[in-house]
Order: sequence, then structure tokens, then C-alpha cells
Amino acid sequence: MNYIVLDLEWNQPAWRGAMVEKPVHLVGEIVQIGAVRLNKKFRIKKELRLGVAPKFYKKLHRKVSRITGLTAEDLKNGLPFDKAMKKLRRFCGKNFVFLTWGPDDIPMLLDNLRLHAMDDKWVPEVFDLQVFFAHQIAKQSRQFALEDAMEMLGEGEFRAHDALEDAHSTAIICRHLNMEEGMKNYASLAGDITSRPLASTELRIRYRDKGEALKELRETPFDCPACDGFLTPETMIPQNPHKYLSLASCSAGERYLVRFKLYQDPEHFWRATREVYTITEALRVFYEEKDKRYTEIKRKEREREKEKRRRKKRAAAAATAAKD
Ligand SMILES: [Zn+2]
Repeated sequence: MNYIVLDLEWNQPAWRGAMVEKPVHLVGEIVQIGAVRLNKKFRIKKELRLGVAPKFYKKLHRKVSRITGLTAEDLKNGLPFDKAMKKLRRFCGKNFVFLTWGPDDIPMLLDNLRLHAMDDKWVPEVFDLQVFFAHQIAKQSRQFALEDAMEMLGEGEFRAHDALEDAHSTAIICRHLNMEEGMKNYASLAGDITSRPLASTELRIRYRDKGEALKELRETPFDCPACDGFLTPETMIPQNPHKYLSLASCSAGERYLVRFKLYQDPEHFWRATREVYTITEALRVFYEEKDKRYTEIKRKEREREKEKRRRKKRAAAAATAAKD
């Protein structure tokens, strides 16, 4: 397994009216890629810096130029996006995950891939190290600029907003983090499922109420997104009042995590979106945590019911005794 620290710099449209809207609402077009490959011990093995020539936002935005130090010449001399992707993928190897600083780079990468009608299935699981840092070092859940994080860790020599420099700094931060722990607990640290689903389907069926929806969803097998088999939900526990988690097993043997998002349509019928996820270690921990909490809530509910019945019985007994 390779760990690829990825950092991107992107150009912006010259003015609002120049924003590309289709096939994606393109907030930025990638102009520089920095990547650092780490081995399984998170030691730096190799580095890559690529300039990318933008196709849509060709004129270098003044703000981007000021922040990154890139010039119009740099943009012109960049690789076409598809060539840059080829090089990046070769650099990453076959089996890898992405590490980033902050949540923005991977959505930007995905948008740019879609912009060029290119495959995005190769983009693997991502861990935002800001989440690790906030939890393990800063002990407060907010975002930290890379520069501030480096300073807090006493790591000097920092030049922000060159893609490779940023990736390199992020790689250095890894040395201060408990990476195994962070990756294992990632979904629960981030407070939600952060990986991309294998499949996401908006179901057409409408239910009269939420109870009916949950019962039907739990009892209805559906096509497995990974093979010719079908998936049968085995459990149904709430993540919150609108999201429900289920472990489902495929008739071919594999197990998946399924999440149903429930919502009411304008006619007040209940509808659901279904997402199927590969069960990573982080998702397993996430699910077990939610399951434990749900079991505990149920247990307390049962106890309260029991206590209520006991009290009623005692009151009735006292009333009978008083009569006698
Ligand atoms: Zn299957």
C-alpha cells in the first residue's frame, strides 16, 4: 500500500460570468499538482510536481498568481490535463490511498476529471489529515491552515501554496500523527461517512410513513453494485433521524454497509436514497459505534418501560392494601 500526499493548486474564472457550469460547476481548474509518495512507515520515498495547462480558465487570476507565485508562462508550459493524470496515476502505483490537508483537493480533482469526461473510479479512499491533527494534536475540532499546523509542531521552513511544498509539509506532519489510529477511526472522527459510495440510488418507491419506509427498506433485497448477486439488508440502525445504516450481505458472500437517507417529498410521502459502501476499517468502527449507541438507547428505553410497569403494580397493590 502506498500513501500519496496530494496537493493541488487551481486557477479561477476571471469573472463570475466566465464560470463553466456544464458538465460541472467548475470552481477551479487545476494548474499544479504536488504529490509525495510515502511507504507503509510513512517515510518519504518519491516526489512529483506537475504543471497543468488550463483549458477553460486560461488567464491566470491575479489572486491565484499572488498566492501561488505561478506565472502566465507556467500555465502555458503545463501539461494537458489528461497527460498530467496519466503521470500522476503512474506515480501513485496500483494500491494506494490519498492523504490531503483539508477537504477541498479531492472534490476539485473529481470535478476536473468529470470536466474532461475522464474516469474517476481510480480515485481511492481519502484521509484529510486536518481531521487527525485537530483531534490528536490541537484537541479542538476546527480547521487549521497548513502553515499554522507546521508552526504548532515546531516545523520551520515553510513556503505555502506551491503544490509540492504543501504536499511535502503535509508529509512531514504525518510524522507527528498517529496515522494508524487516525485512519482506523476516521469516519467517527470526521463524524460521518467520508468515503464515496460504490453506488448511490434514488429510489422511486413512495411510503406513507417513516415506519413503513424503514420496514420495507429493511426487507427488500436489491441488486449488488459489485456483482450479479443481490444484497439483503440485515440490520437497520439510525445514524441520525434522517440517515439509517444497515449491514447487508451479498448472495455472493461479500458484506457491505448500506446507508438509507430518508426525506419527505412535497406531497408528504416518504422517499429514500440508498448508498452502498465497501466496509473499510474506518467504516466498520463507525458502524459499530452507532450500533452500540443505538443498543444502549434501546436498553434504557426498555428499562424505563419496566420501571413504569413496576410502579403501576406497586401503586395498585398499595390501593388494594388500603381498601383491606
Ligand atoms: Zn455482490
